[in-house]
Amino acid sequence: MIESKREDHRKLALALVQEILPHTGKAIRVGITGAPGVGKSLTIDTLGTQLTAQGRKVAVLAVDPSSVRTGGAILGDKTRMVRLANDPNAFVRPSPAAGTLGGVAANTREAMLICEAAGFDVVLVETVGIGQSETAVADMTNFFLVLVLPGAGDQLQGLKKGVVELADMIAVNKADGDNVKAATAAAAEYRAALQILSPRSANWLPPVITYSALTGSGIAELWAQVVLHRERLSADGELAARRREQQIKWMWAMVEQRLFGRLHSSAAIKAKLPEIETAVAKGELSPALAAAEIIAMIGLGGSTSHNR
Ligand code: GDP
Repeated sequence: MIESKREDHRKLALALVQEILPHTGKAIRVGITGAPGVGKSLTIDTLGTQLTAQGRKVAVLAVDPSSVRTGGAILGDKTRMVRLANDPNAFVRPSPAAGTLGGVAANTREAMLICEAAGFDVVLVETVGIGQSETAVADMTNFFLVLVLPGAGDQLQGLKKGVVELADMIAVNKADGDNVKAATAAAAEYRAALQILSPRSANWLPPVITYSALTGSGIAELWAQVVLHRERLSADGELAARRREQQIKWMWAMVEQRLFGRLHSSAAIKAKLPEIETAVAKGELSPALAAAEIIAMIGLGGSTSHNR
């Protein structure tokens, strides 16, 4: 229902999310990013299986901006996480195809709340490095994990600077077999690179570790860092502060999204937009005046606000 675009469903979903709010916010929320092929699905499958074996309930969600364009979700696909998909203590949900990154992110945030209220105490949110999706996921989680590969010298080029700045940890996957040495070398390079960045938190220097999703070696250490991070940031209130900030950001993101939604859902506005666009393109109407006209139109007509 929370993924539905139907207005009556939206109303029910909003009411539902408000209702369950007191039961949310207690899970460990981990955002996981990395290029295709880095091993996100195997990592989540292996980590998730270890966590459910310890008695945790694990939800896996995805923010996949490519699903917006292709209509097919490549992340959070159950066939990619065979063990977890068949694990009664896990829930794997593919990325919603909501039309915009904002829409996908909003649906995923709400799905996360529902999972928490349903008793999942670990929520893993997977994304790929497309556009702003990483920022969106970092903004809805407590720990942002960047997965990378061992490789020849130029790993750092492959990583967007902004992503490294979001990282609470960098983990070099596939440290198995012949790759162990390369993985260790890559980890040293990332460590050096991180040192020149100012850390996201005064309480946490992002560690760089190596592990293997295939053999499971290093996965326990990976999780230990997530738990340690949580303890450190909880102790001095930073975790709670981050969450408060995220809530406010979330609110404004929703405002933005609804305003845009309004533009596209109102037939009257939709009918006027091509005309305005043409006038702006021809130079007959200034962009500023056009923007003012559009904003005035959003404010017009029946309210679609949801009163609780
Ligand atoms: P994703 O695209 O990031 O989800 O990557 P996948 O989890 O699908 O992994 C891509 C490929 O790398 C698959 O063939 C995996 O079997 C392989 N792979 C993933 N993790 C490891 C690992 O730790 N070691 C090795 N040797 N291969 C791995």
